[in-house]
Amino acid sequence: MLYFFKGFKIKEYKLVILGAGASALMLATKLSEDGFKDTLIIDHNPKIGMKIKISGGGKCNVTNEDVDFNNYLGDSSFVDTILKQYTPFQLLKMLQNRNVSPKIRSLGQYFCKKSADEVIDALKIGLNESNFLLLNKIKSVVKEDFFIITTDKKQIKAKYLVVATGSSAYPQVGGSDIGLTLAKSFGHEVENFSPALVGWTVQKDQFWMKELSGISTRVSIDVGVKKLYGELLFAHKGISGPSVLSASLYWKKGLVYIDFLPDISLKEALSQKKKQISTQLGLSKRLAKKLLQSIEVEDKIVDKLNNKDYEKLALLKKYPLSPAGNFGLKKAEACRGGVKTDFIDADSMQSKVVNNLYFIGEVLDVTGELGGYNFQWAFSSAVVAYKDLKNKLIKE
Ligand SMILES: Cc1cc2nc3c(=O)[nH]c(=O)nc-3n(C[C@H](O)[C@H](O)[C@H](O)COP(=O)(O)OP(=O)(O)OC[C@H]3O[C@@H](n4cnc5c(N)ncnc54)[C@H](O)[C@@H]3O)c2cc1C
Repeated sequence: MLYFFKGFKIKEYKLVILGAGASALMLATKLSEDGFKDTLIIDHNPKIGMKIKISGGGKCNVTNEDVDFNNYLGDSSFVDTILKQYTPFQLLKMLQNRNVSPKIRSLGQYFCKKSADEVIDALKIGLNESNFLLLNKIKSVVKEDFFIITTDKKQIKAKYLVVATGSSAYPQVGGSDIGLTLAKSFGHEVENFSPALVGWTVQKDQFWMKELSGISTRVSIDVGVKKLYGELLFAHKGISGPSVLSASLYWKKGLVYIDFLPDISLKEALSQKKKQISTQLGLSKRLAKKLLQSIEVEDKIVDKLNNKDYEKLALLKKYPLSPAGNFGLKKAEACRGGVKTDFIDADSMQSKVVNNLYFIGEVLDVTGELGGYNFQWAFSSAVVAYKDLKNKLIKE
């Protein structure tokens, strides 16, 4: 339908979704399945689902077999309410019905068999070109008795508006904080975005780590509130890998403690008294030698260790590290921060401040650990909004 606003002709939709990412596509395809077609999805990217496309090394870690609020930074009761309304089991069933059968690779993480395109194609079902307005940068939104959305190219009118613009992570594929600007303009409080699921740069004392670039080792990282297990990858800029990425979600500043022998006690590790320390830690020789240098223990046979050596060797299980910073938004797989969830109703995803306005996905102040948790959040929150919107949109 056409409508005139300030003298200009503008097109009217019942539902406009801002952002064509994971959560938006889930919402639109579910509505389409129920016969509702009057949806427009706006994105500044040339293609839809661009973060899905590059996720999980191109194979999209779509969910995890073990998902609960403990895997998220955010209001646990809010997160719990939403995750319970659409579980990994329901997501996997929906994907299976659309001929996508992700498989567990490790640690309960489900990945696509061939490529992330499988997920994008599944989420496109029931949608066509007329549902998308791409290469349009959302600038602002105002509300009268309906919403007027202004992009850099046109204006659109909507009765219901869903903000699904994600976070600022990976600006190279469209990440931005427009969702926070819009939320604030409508009276919601927000927590500014900052990089999460991102590698750490290291202080001068730990520059030796950069020399090990390419080596990876299993560790646990104690960030105070939580201990994260997984691989640590030494990188040119500092340290990265799954354990660091998940730990970065919880770290703000100060010390973290790395256990380089997470599955074994020091006593067990050094049980062979006639062997050199570096050969029996179960670490790569280069890493073992560098670690010993950094804690100032000479690489000798265990029999020759004195009490002082043992005190220092205890640091292998509690190595103190104060990250200098992180690799930044361009390398971050997600962001901390978002629209504060006190302003959102967990049974509908509708704003408590503005009627007919919804927020879903990563734009909210909820962020998951590495392992499929962020897509599950995007999809669960989208389905909660879908359940509320379908009654309104289809019955009206
Ligand atoms: C490299 C990488 C790998 C990842 N791998 C995984 C993984 O394997 N598993 C997992 O669970 N999570 C992964 N994530 C995180 C996951 O991609 C996000 O949490 C998820 O996509 C969030 O969904 P969303 O719908 O909220 O936002 P998005 O999918 O980010 O969609 C938001 C959309 O809004 C658009 N947009 C933003 N601003 C504007 C504007 N001003 N105008 C117009 N359009 C705009 C963007 O272009 C984007 O298309 C990964 C992220 C990255 C960056």
